[in-house]
Amino acid sequence: MPVKYREIKRCGGLAVSEIALGCEGFIGRTREEFKKMLDRAMELGINFIDMYTPNPEFRDNLGAAMAGRRDKLVLQGHICAVWEDGQYLRTRDIKKAKEAFEDQLKRLGTDYLDIGMIHYVDGERDFQEVFQGEIIRYCKELKAEGKIRAIGLSSHNPVIARKAVESGLIDVLMFSVNAAYDMQPASEDCNDLFDPAAYQNGFVGMNPDRKALYELCDRENVAIDVMKVFGGGDMLNAELSPFGVAFNEYQCIEYCLTRPGVVSVMAGCHSENEIEKAVSYYEASREEKDYSMILSRMDKFQFRGNCMYCGHCAPCSVGINVAEVNKYLNLCLAQKEVPETVADHYRLLAHHAGECIACGRCEKNCPFGVEIIQKMKKAAEVFGH
Ligand code: SF4
Ligand code: SF4
Repeated sequence: MPVKYREIKRCGGLAVSEIALGCEGFIGRTREEFKKMLDRAMELGINFIDMYTPNPEFRDNLGAAMAGRRDKLVLQGHICAVWEDGQYLRTRDIKKAKEAFEDQLKRLGTDYLDIGMIHYVDGERDFQEVFQGEIIRYCKELKAEGKIRAIGLSSHNPVIARKAVESGLIDVLMFSVNAAYDMQPASEDCNDLFDPAAYQNGFVGMNPDRKALYELCDRENVAIDVMKVFGGGDMLNAELSPFGVAFNEYQCIEYCLTRPGVVSVMAGCHSENEIEKAVSYYEASREEKDYSMILSRMDKFQFRGNCMYCGHCAPCSVGINVAEVNKYLNLCLAQKEVPETVADHYRLLAHHAGECIACGRCEKNCPFGVEIIQKMKKAAEVFGH
């Protein structure tokens, strides 16, 4: 089953694979091992890689592995991640940031990155420093010179990420997404996301800041690529998962790919087997990918009535993609208007809400008790068909 692609709309519709590569699994590999992993990923159709690490050996190895096929890869490099005294360091020192960027191009053997990602902005003061200072100016210069094609920002904080998107300067957002983090309020300290205490009172539904962020990105065509899809592995382990139930890899990937705005999931693969496992998502059955039952069985979950875009209600008697219709409807209701881009996406659907015959088949399948017939009526009213 081939890998599928989604577009980074604010980067000329650049097509990126839905399953993409994080870089951590490549660190510490020999040059030969590195190339074999990259070869296998590319054979399977993966064309997108995040390079948060400033590790010079990683950069050299990637440069060697991709020699002669730079144009087949979409490279996401980080600005403000530097290598000092043999270690990674996040900095806002413009001189160090510039040197690290040039070092990155040189070691990779390329004269541009597709995405220049401003590295890790979670705090308000840091946000002000980046967006009112030299870092954002530098990114704009790099974009104007064609040394980066798009400006990105990586964050774990939905409030800060939202401000960045609202600035209009960000084309891509790298954000930590999984079902557990999505329940957590915004914090300037990303360690809160990993803290078991944050989950001890159970879950009370999706955090509104996160929901609003994803919808905003979708509306503004800011592409989200996902980090922490498996919550650092915790989501896959019943003992460690905040849900007390292990998700499988397919459920984690499916959850992310069904959030509005998401184009890619950066899977942290450490071997060719793990790359193959991630891509086998496309061969997994609907049941294997279905995360909705885990969420809907949570005692303290308050999702009733809210569409989670899980697609569990399919098939519709007349072929309406209920999850997509609900997504576009929610984007409009949040905005209190019908943005042109959303109307356009809705128009392109094969079947529209106005075709609903109110048979109720979908409602029997929805684990979250969404009143789908009402939603279809509302969508038909809002979009006019
Ligand atoms: S209506 Fe229900 S089953 Fe369908 S996508 Fe939404 S939450 Fe999932
Ligand atoms: S009620 Fe409407 S949306 Fe649901 S299955 Fe029937 S036709 Fe499709």
